[in-house]
Amino acid sequence: MLQDSHGRILRDLRVSLTDRCNFRCLYCLPETEAAHNFYRGHWANLPNSKPILQQWVPRTHLLSFEEIERVIRLAVGLGIQKIRLTGGEPLLRNDIETLVARIATLPGLEDLAMTTNGFLFPQKGQALRQAGLRRISFSLDSLDRDNFKKITGRDGLAEVLKSISLAQELGFHPVKVNAVVIRGLNDHEIEALADFAHEHGLAMRFIEFMPLDSARAWLKELVVSGREVLDRLKQRFDLRPALADNPSSTSKRWIFADGRGEIGIIAPVSEPFCGHCNRLRLTADGKIRTCLFSITEHDLRSRLRNGESDDQIVSWLKGVVWQKEARHHIGEPEFVPPSRSMSCIGG
Ligand code: SAM
Ligand code: SF4
Repeated sequence: MLQDSHGRILRDLRVSLTDRCNFRCLYCLPETEAAHNFYRGHWANLPNSKPILQQWVPRTHLLSFEEIERVIRLAVGLGIQKIRLTGGEPLLRNDIETLVARIATLPGLEDLAMTTNGFLFPQKGQALRQAGLRRISFSLDSLDRDNFKKITGRDGLAEVLKSISLAQELGFHPVKVNAVVIRGLNDHEIEALADFAHEHGLAMRFIEFMPLDSARAWLKELVVSGREVLDRLKQRFDLRPALADNPSSTSKRWIFADGRGEIGIIAPVSEPFCGHCNRLRLTADGKIRTCLFSITEHDLRSRLRNGESDDQIVSWLKGVVWQKEARHHIGEPEFVPPSRSMSCIGG
């Protein structure tokens, strides 16, 4: 099993398939003029930390499908039950359905999911479903075309809405929708997003803004706490707590009284859940990260490419997991942001 020195057993592996993305979200890759304009008013308060110079991973460093499948197979053998494919934008990876088909049939794997911005899903949805993908999460931070474009850098609201309904038609279940809530940007849309989830029977997740953007522009004042989101939603909707969550679940869930759709609050900044964290990450260039906020990465790619045996990799992986950090230090004076943005780490 994969156990760390704090007694946590890891069950969840997030696999980033690429660091590339066709969006430029203001909270992840804030490279657009709209993103700069938004942050400009706040930058006077920024701590003196440099933006991350975005350097794309050379293509030869991206793990091949064979390498990814091998790592997942070994991880499943070590007790990993859940795999989430992410990025960057995972649908930018050519023939992704081939990889999904290979992973979906691995014995012992209980759950295979994907997180995507949804822009390319209309072209890929059917093939992904046929390949065995059952669960999908889309990012959708705004229902207003202009605000969507301001946030993501792309005029793609119509495509993402189409993707969400297509996923439902294709029988993906649950279809989740993630919104990162940022004060002064989309916090006025919280109720509208919840309404949308209710109307369409979706699992809506409101996520606190974390210091993982490439511009290092995150500021505590921009975070809308999960508590604030929930208080506002409770004023508007009749919400009931969902049945007891798995303690390592990142979200606290609430269902609408009529049973159609649900709300989840993910509050890693204001209510950290590190004590129950059972997650491990594999970056697109083959580094193992034991925490979203790790400042060290562990190089698996060279081991895969240097002919190490399965046994050697398994024992190395166990040693790496043992060193998993106790918790993150967001908001504390000693906090050091990771050297790569969320798009490179894999959210
Ligand atoms: N491109 C895909 C997408 O956007 O869904 C998958 C990768 S993205 C890095 C995965 C998730 O991370 C998305 O739901 C996104 O909203 C979230 N995310 C990115 N940057 C974030 C940040 N600074 N704080 C909180 N969540 C963030
Ligand atoms: Fe946005 Fe996801 Fe791309 Fe980051 S990786 S810019 S969150 S779409």
